[in-house]
Amino acid sequence: MAKRDYYEVLGVPKNASKDDVKKAYRRLAVQNHPDKNPGDKAAEERFKEATEAYEVISDDQKRAAYDQFGFAGVDGMGGQGGAQDFTNIYRDFEDIFGGFGDFSSIFDNLFGGSGRSGGGRRRGEPPRGANLRYDMELSFEQAVFGTTMEIAYSHDEACPVCNGSGSEAGGGRKVCPTCQGSGQVRRSSGFFSIASPCPTCGGEGHIIDKPCRSCGGSGLLKKKQKIKVTIPPGIDDGKRLSVPGQGDAGPNGGRPGDLYVFIHVKPHEFFERDGYDLYCAVPVSIMKATLGGEITVPTIDGKKVKVTVPQASQHGKMLRLREEGVPGANGSARRGDMYIKLMVQVPQKLSRKGKELLEELQRVEGDTDTPRPIKLSDLK
Ligand SMILES: [Zn+2]
Ligand SMILES: [Zn+2]
Repeated sequence: MAKRDYYEVLGVPKNASKDDVKKAYRRLAVQNHPDKNPGDKAAEERFKEATEAYEVISDDQKRAAYDQFGFAGVDGMGGQGGAQDFTNIYRDFEDIFGGFGDFSSIFDNLFGGSGRSGGGRRRGEPPRGANLRYDMELSFEQAVFGTTMEIAYSHDEACPVCNGSGSEAGGGRKVCPTCQGSGQVRRSSGFFSIASPCPTCGGEGHIIDKPCRSCGGSGLLKKKQKIKVTIPPGIDDGKRLSVPGQGDAGPNGGRPGDLYVFIHVKPHEFFERDGYDLYCAVPVSIMKATLGGEITVPTIDGKKVKVTVPQASQHGKMLRLREEGVPGANGSARRGDMYIKLMVQVPQKLSRKGKELLEELQRVEGDTDTPRPIKLSDLK
C-alpha cells in the first residue's frame, strides 16, 4: 500500500507551525487511541500512521529532509522499514498526552521492541518487562459495590539461579561480536545508511558468555502467582485497571511491566446500567395505573422500597428513586438514581364480574371507535 503524505496524514498545510503540528497529532492520537477503540485495526493503523508522521514533522532536521527528499529522506530515521525512533514523541509526551492513559505501554504494545530501543529507555538501561493482560469477569453487583478479587496468572520472574542476569556463575557479559557493542547494524540503501537492532544481541550491545542453565540465558522464568486486586465500587464494563509492576520481569534486571485487568461485567436479570443510574421495568395493573397507589420494588442493595404510582400513569412512565443507583467512585460522589419504568399490564383473565364491571366502565366513561393516530412527535 502506498504511504500517505505526512502532512496529509496530520491534516496540516506544509507551512504549519510546530504548535499546529502538535495540536493536530494530539487530536488524531486521542481519537484513534487503541484503548478507546479496542479491536479496531483501522484506528490502530491511523494511530501508528499519525505517530510516524508526527515523529518526522515535529523534528526540524527530519522535516527538512522529508520536504526535500520525501520518504527516502527520512527512511531509517522514523519511517517504517528502518529502525523506529520515537525520541520526539517521548520528549513531548507530557505535553501531548498529559493525563491521558498510559502511553508508554501502548507504544510498547504497538511498536514492539523497535519502538523501545528508540526512546523508551535510556541507553544502557535494560529493557522493561512486558505488560500483561488479565480478563476479569464480575457479577453486576460486584461491579456496582466493588470487591476484592484474587487472581492467578503466570508471568516472567527473575531467574533465582542467576538472579536475573542470565549468566552462569563465573561467567559474564562480553561485547557482541556482530555489532561491537553498538547494538545496531547498518546496511546501505541507495544514498542512505539504515540502522536496525543487531540480530545477535537484540540491540543490547553485549552477549552472555556462559548462559545460565536454569533459564537458558534469558534471566527469566515463568512462574504462577496470585495477587489480590481491589475493584473500586462503580466500575463499569470495558474499564481497565492497572496493577503496576505485576507484569513480566524485565530481562537483565530491567523494570517489570504492568498488569492490566480488563473488566467484563455480567448482565443482571432485572437491572440495566447507564453510568451511575440503574433502570428496571415493573408491571402495574390498569387499575393501579389509572387510580394510583403504591407498589414495593426491590433495589440493587436487596432492600424493598415503597414507591407511589401517581394517578393516571401511562404505560412506559418513568419513576425515579433518588440515590438507589450505583455508588460514586471512591465513595465520594453522590450515588446514582434508580429509574422504574411502569409497564401497564392488561388483565389476561377476567372473572365474569370483572368483565361486567369493565363493560359498565366502558359504557359510563365512553369509548371511541375512531381513534386519531398519536403524533410521532408526542412519542418520546
Ligand atoms: Zn538463570
Ligand atoms: Zn550486537
